[in-house]
Amino acid sequence: MQFTDLNLAPALLKAIADKGYSSPSPIQEQAIPGILAGRDLMAAAQTGTGKTAGFTLPLLQLLSDGAKVQPNQARALILTPTRELAAQVAQSVADYSKYMPLKSTVVFGGVKINPQMMALRRGVDILVATPGRLLDLYQQNAVRFSQLEVLVLDEADRMLDMGFINDIKKILALLPKKRQNLLFSATFSADIRKLAKGLVSNPLEVSVSPENSTAERVEQSIYPVDKGRKAALLTQLVHENNWQQVLVFTKTKHQANKLTTHLESAGIKAAAIHGNKSQNARTKALADFKNGSIRALVATDIAARGLDIDQLPQVVNYELPNVAEDYVHRIGRTGRAGAAGHAISLVCVDETKELIAIERLIKQQLPRTTVEGYAPVNTVPVLPLNTKPYKPKKAKPKPATSKPIMQKANAPHHAAAPKQFANNNRTS
Ligand code: AMP
Repeated sequence: MQFTDLNLAPALLKAIADKGYSSPSPIQEQAIPGILAGRDLMAAAQTGTGKTAGFTLPLLQLLSDGAKVQPNQARALILTPTRELAAQVAQSVADYSKYMPLKSTVVFGGVKINPQMMALRRGVDILVATPGRLLDLYQQNAVRFSQLEVLVLDEADRMLDMGFINDIKKILALLPKKRQNLLFSATFSADIRKLAKGLVSNPLEVSVSPENSTAERVEQSIYPVDKGRKAALLTQLVHENNWQQVLVFTKTKHQANKLTTHLESAGIKAAAIHGNKSQNARTKALADFKNGSIRALVATDIAARGLDIDQLPQVVNYELPNVAEDYVHRIGRTGRAGAAGHAISLVCVDETKELIAIERLIKQQLPRTTVEGYAPVNTVPVLPLNTKPYKPKKAKPKPATSKPIMQKANAPHHAAAPKQFANNNRTS
């Protein structure tokens, strides 16, 4: 199939050609016609499937026909769980709409609210937002929804994981009842289905990756090592393998900072990216990582969520995540868009429980490599694979009020979902 087969406006086809895409991805093939026909949508699609264009292209086309937007109104609202994802989606909206007379803006916490209020003053056709800041803007009368035609919930599972359910309910209550709803989620847990029930009506259901699958092209392995020797082992691995670009995950902000300092002292240019860093610092770290001026980006899950870093060859789990699904999301940062990737996890005995949960989720035992000189004193036990279906952990909802400062300080850590162009042609 070609983009020209999808009945998209010439202005969109031109913007797509500028991007250099040759043909639509499976999610785009499946979602675009349904959205253009005005249907609600429930899509199981992860970052890397081309889902952003999958909803943005038809959305822009639908909006290009309608009424002029009034002051402080938004005709389409795209909700995302994190600032990084909001910024990326907004960039896609700007790219795809560049030949159309549509206005868009993005709002998220952690930066000044005044410029966002100014940007909303004349109204926007598309508003990309994180939930907490959107509610703040609403409370300050900066945004109204009486003209709202379309709602997109992007990465709905992450929004629930991050405790945004109350904010989402509040937002839904502010929107006109008659609207088109597009729901995107990496997985469809019972909680997501519950949310969907009150949200979408007679939706088109689309799925482009099997639930909880790990990217097939990612070579995964475990390096058993004692906790206190992880930093030295990582340094050795970076040098020995001459890794030029490695994304390292830690569980905490503190550990991210500590490890960054350690790597720097070992001559490896590194930067940390986490919730306590300012938006500017995060943007700079990501840009430096992308342009090669730093070799190691040390991230907590939430900071890495939704980052679009193409062809990342190496991911290291310095610490295993508490939530097994995050392992899948983390390693999905590598082996993207057909490129081969490697994900290694430095695992100490304290992490046996997390390891068991991960292996249960991905339904395989991960191969182990012991590096000479780093064999752990406290051995990580090899237990038989638990073949019972994996049960996801439940997240506690956040309190109903969501100030941006809370979003910054308290949000739990979650990672981005895997890129799945490699095995994304399944439908349900
Ligand atoms: P997403 O899943 O929306 O985060 O998109 C992942 C990446 O795929 C982004 O870098 C997009 O620019 C890219 N992309 C989206 N659609 C296509 C397409 N049809 N062909 C090639 N790349 C695409």
